[in-house]
Amino acid sequence: MRYISTRGQTAPQSFADILLAGLAPDGGLFLPESWPQIPAEEIFGFAGKRYAGVAFAILKRFTGDSFTDAELREDIEAAYSDFDAPDIAPLVEIGKGKYLLELFHGPTLAFKDIAMQVLGRLFARALAKEGGKATVVAATSGDTGSAAIAALGGLPNIDVFVMHPKGRVSEVQRRQMTTAPFDNVHNIALEGSFDDAQTVVKQLFADKAFANRAHLTAVNSINFARIAAQAVYYFTAAVKLEKPATFVVPTGNFGDVFAGEAAMRMGLPAHKLVVATNANDIVARALNEGVYESDTVLPTLSPSMDIQVSSNFERALFEASGRDADWVRGAMDTFAAKRSITLPGELRLKLRARYDAGRADDAETLDLMARTFRATGRTVDPHTAVALRVAEKLDARLEDPIVILSTAHPAKFPDAVAQATGQKVPLPRRLAALYDGVERVTVLPHDLAAVRVFIEERLRPA
Ligand SMILES: *Cc1c(COP(=O)(O)O)cnc(C)c1O
Repeated sequence: MRYISTRGQTAPQSFADILLAGLAPDGGLFLPESWPQIPAEEIFGFAGKRYAGVAFAILKRFTGDSFTDAELREDIEAAYSDFDAPDIAPLVEIGKGKYLLELFHGPTLAFKDIAMQVLGRLFARALAKEGGKATVVAATSGDTGSAAIAALGGLPNIDVFVMHPKGRVSEVQRRQMTTAPFDNVHNIALEGSFDDAQTVVKQLFADKAFANRAHLTAVNSINFARIAAQAVYYFTAAVKLEKPATFVVPTGNFGDVFAGEAAMRMGLPAHKLVVATNANDIVARALNEGVYESDTVLPTLSPSMDIQVSSNFERALFEASGRDADWVRGAMDTFAAKRSITLPGELRLKLRARYDAGRADDAETLDLMARTFRATGRTVDPHTAVALRVAEKLDARLEDPIVILSTAHPAKFPDAVAQATGQKVPLPRRLAALYDGVERVTVLPHDLAAVRVFIEERLRPA
Protein backbone atom coordinates (compact mmCIF):
# COMPACT_ATOMS: atom_id res chain seq x y z
CA MET A 1 0.00 0.00 0.00
CA ARG A 2 1.43 3.36 -1.11
CA TYR A 3 0.19 6.89 -0.42
CA ILE A 4 -0.19 9.83 -2.77
CA SER A 5 -0.78 13.54 -2.16
CA THR A 6 -4.02 15.36 -2.97
CA ARG A 7 -1.86 17.93 -4.78
CA GLY A 8 -0.13 15.36 -6.97
CA GLN A 9 3.47 16.51 -6.60
CA THR A 10 4.86 14.01 -4.12
CA ALA A 11 6.24 10.58 -5.04
CA PRO A 12 4.23 7.65 -3.57
CA GLN A 13 5.29 6.77 -0.02
CA SER A 14 4.91 3.94 2.48
CA PHE A 15 2.63 4.02 5.53
CA ALA A 16 5.60 4.51 7.90
CA ASP A 17 6.74 7.48 5.79
CA ILE A 18 3.39 9.25 5.82
CA LEU A 19 2.86 8.44 9.49
CA LEU A 20 6.11 10.22 10.35
CA ALA A 21 5.63 13.05 7.84
CA GLY A 22 2.01 14.07 8.53
CA LEU A 23 1.61 16.67 5.80
CA ALA A 24 2.81 15.96 2.23
CA PRO A 25 5.82 18.06 1.16
CA ASP A 26 3.77 19.66 -1.68
CA GLY A 27 1.34 21.03 0.94
CA GLY A 28 -1.31 18.39 0.17
CA LEU A 29 -2.73 15.59 2.29
CA PHE A 30 -1.90 11.93 1.89
CA LEU A 31 -4.43 9.32 0.75
CA PRO A 32 -4.00 5.67 -0.22
CA GLU A 33 -3.29 5.10 -3.93
CA SER A 34 -6.49 3.06 -3.96
CA TRP A 35 -8.98 2.25 -1.19
CA PRO A 36 -8.69 -1.26 0.27
CA GLN A 37 -11.92 -3.20 -0.23
CA ILE A 38 -13.44 -5.15 2.66
CA PRO A 39 -15.79 -7.88 1.42
CA ALA A 40 -19.36 -7.87 2.79
CA GLU A 41 -18.93 -11.28 4.49
CA GLU A 42 -15.92 -9.99 6.36
CA ILE A 43 -17.85 -6.90 7.50
CA PHE A 44 -20.70 -9.11 8.81
CA GLY A 45 -18.04 -11.17 10.59
CA PHE A 46 -16.94 -8.11 12.57
CA ALA A 47 -20.06 -8.70 14.69
CA GLY A 48 -18.33 -11.43 16.66
CA LYS A 49 -15.08 -9.53 17.15
CA ARG A 50 -13.67 -7.29 19.86
CA TYR A 51 -13.05 -3.67 18.91
CA ALA A 52 -9.28 -4.20 18.82
CA GLY A 53 -9.76 -7.15 16.46
CA VAL A 54 -11.81 -5.07 14.02
CA ALA A 55 -9.25 -2.29 14.27
CA PHE A 56 -6.50 -4.75 13.38
CA ALA A 57 -8.43 -6.14 10.40
CA ILE A 58 -8.92 -2.63 9.02
CA LEU A 59 -5.59 -1.03 9.88
CA LYS A 60 -3.44 -3.88 8.55
CA ARG A 61 -4.82 -3.05 5.10
CA PHE A 62 -3.32 0.42 5.41
CA THR A 63 -0.02 -0.29 7.12
CA GLY A 64 1.32 -2.50 4.29
CA ASP A 65 4.74 -3.87 5.18
CA SER A 66 5.63 -1.00 7.51
CA PHE A 67 4.87 -3.20 10.54
CA THR A 68 4.55 -6.93 11.14
CA ASP A 69 1.14 -8.29 12.13
CA ALA A 70 2.50 -8.98 15.61
CA GLU A 71 3.72 -5.40 16.02
CA LEU A 72 0.45 -3.92 14.81
CA ARG A 73 -1.59 -6.21 17.07
CA GLU A 74 0.54 -5.37 20.10
CA ASP A 75 0.17 -1.62 19.57
CA ILE A 76 -3.58 -1.79 18.97
CA GLU A 77 -4.12 -3.95 22.05
CA ALA A 78 -2.09 -1.54 24.19
CA ALA A 79 -3.87 1.48 22.70
CA TYR A 80 -7.28 0.25 23.83
CA SER A 81 -6.22 -1.19 27.20
CA ASP A 82 -6.99 2.02 29.13
CA PHE A 83 -10.55 2.77 28.02
CA ASP A 84 -13.45 2.92 30.46
CA ALA A 85 -15.83 0.99 28.19
CA PRO A 86 -15.10 -2.65 27.34
CA ASP A 87 -16.34 -2.25 23.76
CA ILE A 88 -14.41 1.06 23.36
CA ALA A 89 -17.16 2.78 21.33
CA PRO A 90 -20.53 1.82 22.88
CA LEU A 91 -23.71 2.40 20.89
CA VAL A 92 -26.54 3.65 23.13
CA GLU A 93 -30.16 3.86 21.99
CA ILE A 94 -31.68 7.22 22.94
CA GLY A 95 -34.99 7.09 21.08
CA LYS A 96 -36.72 5.13 18.36
CA GLY A 97 -34.14 4.56 15.62
CA LYS A 98 -31.74 7.07 17.26
CA TYR A 99 -28.40 6.16 18.76
CA LEU A 100 -25.44 7.86 20.38
CA LEU A 101 -22.05 6.42 19.44
CA GLU A 102 -20.03 7.21 22.57
CA LEU A 103 -16.45 7.94 21.59
CA PHE A 104 -15.25 9.57 24.81
CA HIS A 105 -14.18 6.66 27.01
CA GLY A 106 -10.42 7.09 26.48
CA PRO A 107 -7.75 8.74 28.65
CA THR A 108 -8.63 12.36 27.78
CA LEU A 109 -12.40 11.90 27.41
CA ALA A 110 -12.77 12.92 23.76
CA PHE A 111 -12.88 10.90 20.54
CA LYS A 112 -9.39 12.02 19.58
CA ASP A 113 -7.98 9.31 21.90
CA ILE A 114 -9.34 6.51 19.74
CA ALA A 115 -6.95 7.34 16.90
CA MET A 116 -4.20 9.07 18.84
CA GLN A 117 -3.56 6.15 21.19
CA VAL A 118 -2.82 3.94 18.18
CA LEU A 119 -0.95 6.63 16.26
CA GLY A 120 1.37 7.44 19.18
CA ARG A 121 2.47 3.85 19.55
CA LEU A 122 2.97 3.23 15.83
CA PHE A 123 4.76 6.54 15.57
CA ALA A 124 7.26 5.67 18.32
CA ARG A 125 7.80 2.27 16.71
CA ALA A 126 8.42 3.68 13.22
CA LEU A 127 10.78 6.25 14.66
CA ALA A 128 12.74 3.61 16.59
CA LYS A 129 13.11 1.55 13.38
CA GLU A 130 14.44 4.56 11.51
CA GLY A 131 16.67 5.53 14.42
CA GLY A 132 15.73 9.19 14.21
CA LYS A 133 14.06 11.82 16.33
CA ALA A 134 10.92 13.83 15.71
CA THR A 135 9.44 17.17 16.58
CA VAL A 136 5.67 16.94 16.67
CA VAL A 137 3.83 20.22 16.23
CA ALA A 138 0.11 20.17 16.82
CA ALA A 139 -2.38 22.98 16.50
CA THR A 140 -5.35 22.14 18.68
CA SER A 141 -8.86 23.50 18.98
CA GLY A 142 -8.92 21.84 22.40
CA ASP A 143 -8.93 18.05 22.31
CA THR A 144 -6.15 17.01 19.91
CA GLY A 145 -3.58 18.58 22.22
CA SER A 146 -4.37 16.56 25.31
CA ALA A 147 -4.87 13.39 23.26
CA ALA A 148 -1.44 13.89 21.65
CA ILE A 149 0.15 14.55 25.03
CA ALA A 150 -1.47 11.44 26.52
CA ALA A 151 -0.16 9.41 23.59
CA LEU A 152 3.33 10.90 23.16
CA GLY A 153 4.23 12.38 26.55
CA GLY A 154 7.41 10.87 28.01
CA LEU A 155 8.41 8.96 24.86
CA PRO A 156 12.11 9.01 23.90
CA ASN A 157 13.34 10.99 20.85
CA ILE A 158 10.09 12.89 20.44
CA ASP A 159 9.39 16.49 21.36
CA VAL A 160 5.80 17.66 21.35
CA PHE A 161 4.83 21.28 20.78
CA VAL A 162 1.12 21.93 21.26
CA MET A 163 -0.41 25.24 20.25
CA HIS A 164 -3.88 26.13 21.44
CA PRO A 165 -5.68 29.43 20.79
CA LYS A 166 -5.25 31.46 23.98
CA GLY A 167 -8.45 31.75 26.01
CA ARG A 168 -10.49 29.80 23.48
CA VAL A 169 -10.44 26.33 24.97
CA SER A 170 -12.33 25.26 28.09
CA GLU A 171 -10.48 25.35 31.42
CA VAL A 172 -10.62 21.56 31.64
CA GLN A 173 -9.18 21.25 28.14
CA ARG A 174 -6.41 23.74 28.96
CA ARG A 175 -5.46 22.11 32.25
CA GLN A 176 -5.41 18.67 30.63
CA MET A 177 -2.62 19.98 28.39
CA THR A 178 -0.72 22.33 30.65
CA THR A 179 -0.52 20.14 33.76
CA ALA A 180 1.03 17.21 31.87
CA PRO A 181 4.17 16.26 33.79
CA PHE A 182 6.38 15.43 30.78
CA ASP A 183 9.68 17.11 29.91
CA ASN A 184 9.16 16.50 26.19
CA VAL A 185 5.84 18.39 26.13
CA HIS A 186 5.80 22.14 25.42
CA ASN A 187 2.55 24.08 25.54
CA ILE A 188 2.06 27.30 23.63
CA ALA A 189 -0.98 29.54 24.11
CA LEU A 190 -1.11 31.35 20.78
CA GLU A 191 -2.80 34.69 20.52
CA GLY A 192 -5.52 34.35 17.88
CA SER A 193 -7.89 31.61 16.72
CA PHE A 194 -7.40 27.92 15.97
CA ASP A 195 -7.12 28.80 12.28
CA ASP A 196 -4.21 31.13 13.11
CA ALA A 197 -2.51 28.28 14.98
CA GLN A 198 -3.11 25.91 12.08
CA THR A 199 -1.67 28.48 9.67
CA VAL A 200 1.49 28.79 11.77
CA VAL A 201 1.88 24.99 11.69
CA LYS A 202 1.54 25.00 7.90
CA GLN A 203 4.10 27.83 7.64
CA LEU A 204 6.56 25.91 9.83
CA PHE A 205 6.26 22.97 7.43
CA ALA A 206 6.67 25.25 4.41
CA ASP A 207 10.01 26.43 5.82
CA LYS A 208 11.83 23.39 4.41
CA ALA A 209 15.21 24.15 5.98
CA PHE A 210 13.69 24.43 9.44
CA ALA A 211 11.32 21.49 8.93
CA ASN A 212 14.21 19.22 7.95
CA ARG A 213 16.51 20.43 10.70
CA ALA A 214 13.81 19.92 13.34
CA HIS A 215 12.42 16.66 11.85
CA LEU A 216 9.03 18.31 11.96
CA THR A 217 5.90 16.20 11.86
CA ALA A 218 2.17 16.58 12.44
CA VAL A 219 -0.29 14.40 14.31
CA ASN A 220 -3.33 16.57 13.57
CA SER A 221 -6.18 14.99 11.68
CA ILE A 222 -4.22 15.80 8.52
CA ASN A 223 -2.20 12.68 9.49
CA PHE A 224 -3.84 9.89 7.51
CA ALA A 225 -3.18 7.33 10.26
CA ARG A 226 -5.82 9.08 12.34
CA ILE A 227 -8.41 8.88 9.59
CA ALA A 228 -7.73 5.16 9.16
CA ALA A 229 -8.14 4.50 12.89
CA GLN A 230 -11.36 6.53 13.05
CA ALA A 231 -12.94 4.56 10.20
CA VAL A 232 -13.10 1.58 12.57
CA TYR A 233 -16.03 2.78 14.73
CA TYR A 234 -18.21 3.40 11.69
CA PHE A 235 -17.88 -0.33 11.01
CA THR A 236 -18.44 -1.48 14.59
CA ALA A 237 -21.55 0.74 14.90
CA ALA A 238 -23.06 -0.41 11.59
CA VAL A 239 -22.43 -4.03 12.43
CA LYS A 240 -24.20 -3.69 15.78
CA LEU A 241 -27.24 -2.21 14.02
CA GLU A 242 -27.16 -4.90 11.32
CA LYS A 243 -28.24 -2.34 8.74
CA PRO A 244 -27.00 0.79 6.95
CA ALA A 245 -27.25 3.97 9.02
CA THR A 246 -27.13 7.74 8.68
CA PHE A 247 -24.18 9.14 10.66
CA VAL A 248 -24.40 12.65 12.10
CA VAL A 249 -20.95 14.01 12.90
CA PRO A 250 -20.04 17.15 14.88
CA THR A 251 -17.51 18.67 12.52
CA GLY A 252 -14.58 21.06 12.69
CA ASN A 253 -11.54 20.02 10.68
CA PHE A 254 -13.57 17.39 8.75
CA GLY A 255 -11.34 14.51 9.92
CA ASP A 256 -13.95 12.50 11.75
CA VAL A 257 -16.61 12.75 9.06
CA PHE A 258 -14.05 12.00 6.32
CA ALA A 259 -13.24 8.80 8.22
CA GLY A 260 -16.87 7.92 7.45
CA GLU A 261 -16.21 8.49 3.75
CA ALA A 262 -13.13 6.28 4.05
CA ALA A 263 -15.28 3.53 5.64
CA MET A 264 -17.84 3.83 2.84
CA ARG A 265 -15.14 3.70 0.18
CA MET A 266 -13.86 0.49 1.81
CA GLY A 267 -17.29 -1.11 1.47
CA LEU A 268 -19.34 0.02 4.47
CA PRO A 269 -22.98 0.42 3.44
CA ALA A 270 -24.37 3.70 4.87
CA HIS A 271 -27.15 6.11 3.91
CA LYS A 272 -25.46 9.44 4.40
CA LEU A 273 -22.89 11.32 6.41
CA VAL A 274 -24.32 14.47 7.98
CA VAL A 275 -21.91 17.30 8.72
CA ALA A 276 -23.04 19.18 11.84
CA THR A 277 -21.33 22.50 12.53
CA ASN A 278 -21.72 25.25 15.10
CA ALA A 279 -21.90 28.91 13.99
CA ASN A 280 -18.53 28.35 12.27
CA ASP A 281 -20.33 26.74 9.37
CA ILE A 282 -17.89 26.94 6.44
CA VAL A 283 -18.41 23.30 5.46
CA ALA A 284 -22.17 23.36 5.92
CA ARG A 285 -22.29 26.43 3.66
CA ALA A 286 -20.00 24.80 1.10
CA LEU A 287 -22.22 21.72 0.92
CA ASN A 288 -25.52 23.61 0.95
CA GLU A 289 -24.60 26.63 -1.17
CA GLY A 290 -21.62 25.49 -3.24
CA VAL A 291 -19.17 28.14 -2.08
CA TYR A 292 -16.30 27.19 0.23
CA GLU A 293 -15.58 30.51 1.85
CA SER A 294 -13.75 31.26 5.06
CA ASP A 295 -15.23 33.72 7.55
CA THR A 296 -13.75 35.00 10.81
CA VAL A 297 -13.80 32.43 13.61
CA LEU A 298 -16.53 32.95 16.22
CA PRO A 299 -15.87 31.61 19.70
CA THR A 300 -18.70 29.20 20.66
CA LEU A 301 -19.67 26.76 23.41
CA SER A 302 -18.28 23.94 21.26
CA PRO A 303 -14.69 25.22 20.94
CA SER A 304 -13.26 22.07 19.33
CA MET A 305 -15.26 23.00 16.23
CA ASP A 306 -14.36 26.71 16.13
CA ILE A 307 -12.68 26.39 12.75
CA GLN A 308 -13.16 28.19 9.45
CA VAL A 309 -10.62 26.29 7.40
CA SER A 310 -11.42 22.58 7.44
CA SER A 311 -8.18 20.95 6.33
CA ASN A 312 -9.59 17.53 5.61
CA PHE A 313 -12.24 18.90 3.29
CA GLU A 314 -9.41 18.86 0.75
CA ARG A 315 -9.50 15.06 0.88
CA ALA A 316 -13.24 15.02 0.13
CA LEU A 317 -12.68 17.49 -2.74
CA PHE A 318 -9.92 15.30 -4.15
CA GLU A 319 -12.21 12.25 -4.15
CA ALA A 320 -15.27 14.09 -5.45
CA SER A 321 -13.22 15.60 -8.30
CA GLY A 322 -12.36 12.08 -9.46
CA ARG A 323 -8.92 12.41 -7.84
CA ASP A 324 -8.00 15.38 -9.99
CA ALA A 325 -4.85 16.60 -8.19
CA ASP A 326 -4.31 19.45 -10.66
CA TRP A 327 -7.77 20.82 -9.94
CA VAL A 328 -7.27 20.45 -6.16
CA ARG A 329 -3.90 22.23 -6.30
CA GLY A 330 -5.43 25.11 -8.26
CA ALA A 331 -8.45 25.31 -5.97
CA MET A 332 -6.29 25.36 -2.85
CA ASP A 333 -4.07 28.09 -4.33
CA THR A 334 -7.19 30.12 -5.09
CA PHE A 335 -8.47 29.52 -1.56
CA ALA A 336 -5.14 30.60 -0.04
CA ALA A 337 -5.25 33.84 -2.05
CA LYS A 338 -8.97 34.72 -1.94
CA ARG A 339 -10.31 32.72 1.05
CA SER A 340 -13.04 31.44 -1.24
CA ILE A 341 -13.65 28.86 -3.96
CA THR A 342 -16.80 28.08 -5.91
CA LEU A 343 -17.37 24.34 -6.22
CA PRO A 344 -18.08 23.15 -9.79
CA GLY A 345 -21.68 21.84 -10.14
CA GLU A 346 -20.78 18.25 -10.87
CA LEU A 347 -18.37 18.05 -7.95
CA ARG A 348 -20.99 19.51 -5.64
CA LEU A 349 -23.51 16.89 -6.76
CA LYS A 350 -21.00 14.15 -5.96
CA LEU A 351 -20.47 15.61 -2.49
CA ARG A 352 -24.22 15.96 -1.92
CA ALA A 353 -24.75 12.31 -2.84
CA ARG A 354 -22.70 11.39 0.23
CA TYR A 355 -22.98 14.35 2.60
CA ASP A 356 -25.82 16.35 4.06
CA ALA A 357 -25.15 19.32 6.34
CA GLY A 358 -26.64 21.63 8.93
CA ARG A 359 -25.64 24.03 11.69
CA ALA A 360 -26.70 24.82 15.23
CA ASP A 361 -25.77 28.00 17.07
CA ASP A 362 -25.09 28.38 20.81
CA ALA A 363 -28.70 29.15 21.73
CA GLU A 364 -29.88 25.98 19.98
CA THR A 365 -27.05 24.00 21.57
CA LEU A 366 -28.00 25.10 25.10
CA ASP A 367 -31.68 24.49 24.42
CA LEU A 368 -30.95 21.00 23.12
CA MET A 369 -28.79 20.20 26.17
CA ALA A 370 -31.54 21.44 28.51
CA ARG A 371 -34.30 19.49 26.75
CA THR A 372 -32.21 16.33 26.61
CA PHE A 373 -31.54 16.57 30.33
CA ARG A 374 -35.22 17.18 31.17
CA ALA A 375 -36.46 14.37 28.96
CA THR A 376 -33.86 11.69 29.71
CA GLY A 377 -31.70 12.80 32.65
CA ARG A 378 -28.71 12.57 30.33
CA THR A 379 -26.14 15.36 30.13
CA VAL A 380 -24.46 15.68 26.74
CA ASP A 381 -21.47 17.82 25.87
CA PRO A 382 -21.97 20.84 23.58
CA HIS A 383 -20.36 19.18 20.53
CA THR A 384 -22.65 16.19 20.77
CA ALA A 385 -25.52 18.64 21.28
CA VAL A 386 -24.74 20.41 18.01
CA ALA A 387 -25.03 17.08 16.20
CA LEU A 388 -28.22 16.14 18.05
CA ARG A 389 -29.78 19.48 17.13
CA VAL A 390 -28.79 19.15 13.47
CA ALA A 391 -30.22 15.62 13.41
CA GLU A 392 -33.45 17.06 14.81
CA LYS A 393 -33.57 19.89 12.25
CA LEU A 394 -32.96 17.61 9.26
CA ASP A 395 -35.02 14.73 10.64
CA ALA A 396 -37.61 14.72 7.85
CA ARG A 397 -35.00 13.98 5.20
CA LEU A 398 -32.70 11.62 7.14
CA GLU A 399 -33.12 7.87 6.86
CA ASP A 400 -33.24 5.74 10.04
CA PRO A 401 -31.38 4.46 11.91
CA ILE A 402 -29.56 7.63 12.87
CA VAL A 403 -26.23 7.39 14.67
CA ILE A 404 -25.02 10.57 16.34
CA LEU A 405 -21.32 10.63 17.08
CA SER A 406 -20.85 11.71 20.70
CA THR A 407 -17.36 13.15 20.64
CA ALA A 408 -16.68 14.36 24.18
CA HIS A 409 -17.58 13.60 27.79
CA PRO A 410 -19.76 16.37 29.29
CA ALA A 411 -17.28 16.78 32.17
CA LYS A 412 -14.87 18.45 29.74
CA PHE A 413 -17.33 21.34 29.38
CA PRO A 414 -18.74 21.89 32.88
CA ASP A 415 -19.60 25.57 32.31
CA ALA A 416 -21.74 24.87 29.25
CA VAL A 417 -23.43 21.97 31.02
CA ALA A 418 -24.17 24.12 34.09
CA GLN A 419 -25.49 26.94 31.92
CA ALA A 420 -27.83 24.61 30.06
CA THR A 421 -28.99 22.29 32.82
CA GLY A 422 -27.99 23.79 36.15
CA GLN A 423 -26.16 20.51 36.79
CA LYS A 424 -22.63 19.92 37.96
CA VAL A 425 -21.12 16.95 36.14
CA PRO A 426 -19.20 14.75 38.58
CA LEU A 427 -15.48 14.84 37.80
CA PRO A 428 -14.47 11.46 36.32
CA ARG A 429 -11.49 9.74 37.96
CA ARG A 430 -9.33 10.69 34.95
CA LEU A 431 -9.76 14.37 35.78
CA ALA A 432 -9.49 14.04 39.56
CA ALA A 433 -6.00 15.61 39.82
CA LEU A 434 -6.64 18.29 37.21
CA TYR A 435 -7.01 21.22 39.56
CA ASP A 436 -3.95 20.35 41.69
CA GLY A 437 -1.32 20.21 38.95
CA VAL A 438 0.99 23.12 38.10
CA GLU A 439 0.30 24.65 34.68
CA ARG A 440 3.21 25.03 32.26
CA VAL A 441 2.47 27.15 29.22
CA THR A 442 4.08 29.98 27.22
CA VAL A 443 2.02 32.73 25.61
CA LEU A 444 3.22 33.67 22.10
CA PRO A 445 1.92 36.04 19.43
CA HIS A 446 0.63 34.34 16.29
CA ASP A 447 3.82 35.05 14.51
CA LEU A 448 5.82 32.45 12.63
CA ALA A 449 9.22 33.79 13.69
CA ALA A 450 8.33 33.84 17.39
CA VAL A 451 7.08 30.25 17.30
CA ARG A 452 10.08 29.07 15.30
CA VAL A 453 12.50 30.60 17.80
CA PHE A 454 10.60 29.03 20.72
CA ILE A 455 10.83 25.60 19.12
CA GLU A 456 14.43 26.05 18.00
CA GLU A 457 15.54 26.90 21.54
CA ARG A 458 14.02 23.70 22.84
CA LEU A 459 15.22 21.28 20.16
CA ARG A 460 17.34 18.36 21.18
CA PRO A 461 20.92 18.29 19.99
CA ALA A 462 21.28 16.00 16.97
C1 LIG B 1 -12.05 17.55 17.30
C2 LIG B 1 -13.44 17.51 17.78
C3 LIG B 1 -14.53 17.60 16.89
C4 LIG B 1 -14.34 17.85 15.41
O1 LIG B 1 -13.72 16.79 14.75
P1 LIG B 1 -13.02 17.05 13.33
O2 LIG B 1 -12.37 15.77 12.98
O3 LIG B 1 -12.03 18.16 13.56
O4 LIG B 1 -14.09 17.46 12.38
C5 LIG B 1 -15.81 17.47 17.41
N1 LIG B 1 -16.03 17.29 18.73
C6 LIG B 1 -15.01 17.21 19.61
C7 LIG B 1 -15.31 17.03 21.03
C8 LIG B 1 -13.68 17.30 19.17
O5 LIG B 1 -12.67 17.21 20.03
